[in-house]
Amino acid sequence: MELEQIKQAALKAFSEAKSVDELYEAHVQVLGRKGAMTVVMQSIATIEKSQKAAFGQACNVVKKELEAVYEARKKDLEEADLKRALNDRWVDPTAPGKKFDVGHLHPLSQVQNDVERIFSSMGFAIMDGPEVESEYYNFEALNVPSWHPARDMQDTFFIKGDDGEASEEFGSENFNRSATISNEGRLVLRTQTSPVQIRSMKKYGAPLRIIAPGRVFRNEATDARHEHTFDQVEGLLIDENISLADLKGVMQEFLTQLFGRVMKVRFRPGYFPFVEPGIELDMSCTLCNEKGCRVCKGTGWLEFMGAGMVHPNVLAAGGIDSNKYQGWAFGFGLTRLVMMRYNIDDIRLLSSGDLRFIKQF
Ligand SMILES: [Zn+2]
Repeated sequence: MELEQIKQAALKAFSEAKSVDELYEAHVQVLGRKGAMTVVMQSIATIEKSQKAAFGQACNVVKKELEAVYEARKKDLEEADLKRALNDRWVDPTAPGKKFDVGHLHPLSQVQNDVERIFSSMGFAIMDGPEVESEYYNFEALNVPSWHPARDMQDTFFIKGDDGEASEEFGSENFNRSATISNEGRLVLRTQTSPVQIRSMKKYGAPLRIIAPGRVFRNEATDARHEHTFDQVEGLLIDENISLADLKGVMQEFLTQLFGRVMKVRFRPGYFPFVEPGIELDMSCTLCNEKGCRVCKGTGWLEFMGAGMVHPNVLAAGGIDSNKYQGWAFGFGLTRLVMMRYNIDDIRLLSSGDLRFIKQF
């Protein structure tokens, strides 16, 4: 019977369809507007009257059955498609790996770590101190009384507020702002790391070998060479029979290790109120190797830091007997060192937070 043949052919086509599109095509072939099934059902007009009802019923049964099979098959194929898509997404071992953004240390931190590592290897302890200081530690104890003209050398940020009210939030382990604050003067953002000298001498006495890296603040207009916030490294060595010759040896070794080649240093006279005698230390030019270039203005030397023998008044402020002990102290710009090492020509880039800059290191 023709109806049975159409049904078997349709069932075969449905089960052999490999995709939803192929299945749809098979459906159109049988049950579409010009499909085999449709044509057969239209032939009812030519059938004998007595058989019409039975023929129509048989056609409807087959049609319903085919539609049900079609729907079931369609569901299966759609599920298979979805599974394949998921498999493609999750288990493709040839897919390139996902890139993760990995951060790194800021160039300032990198150089600070190097500085700390080298001085540690020479027996120096790494010290820290409060960034909000009293005038006493920032100036007086360092032999800079209020009338001293040297105070004009450093434009200072003063913290607003009267007698102790705002002090607690700025407190630190070392910084006990008690009733004695009236003798310590106003609060300032420290203009130098030198106050850590006094705090360390008071806490640990002599002999002493420390460096103190940290942030300092100056009330200055900013430009490519000046910034209100920058980093310094303070150094202090106190012992018996200490001279500037020891400083020369230590700095030469430090710079040689830092730059990875033999570096020389030279002294020039300089003035800082907390040392006597005071010196300026130059190092051999990192660019021209002492031949003379534009950066070192043809001299072969670059200014590196201020230093000197610690003034007896400063030793006394730290509770150290200057008849028994001497020592030297130095301070150099960590920020400037970073700029020299990486040839950075604008200091403001370092604290800009600009990733285009930071990602280069
Ligand atoms: Zn040079």
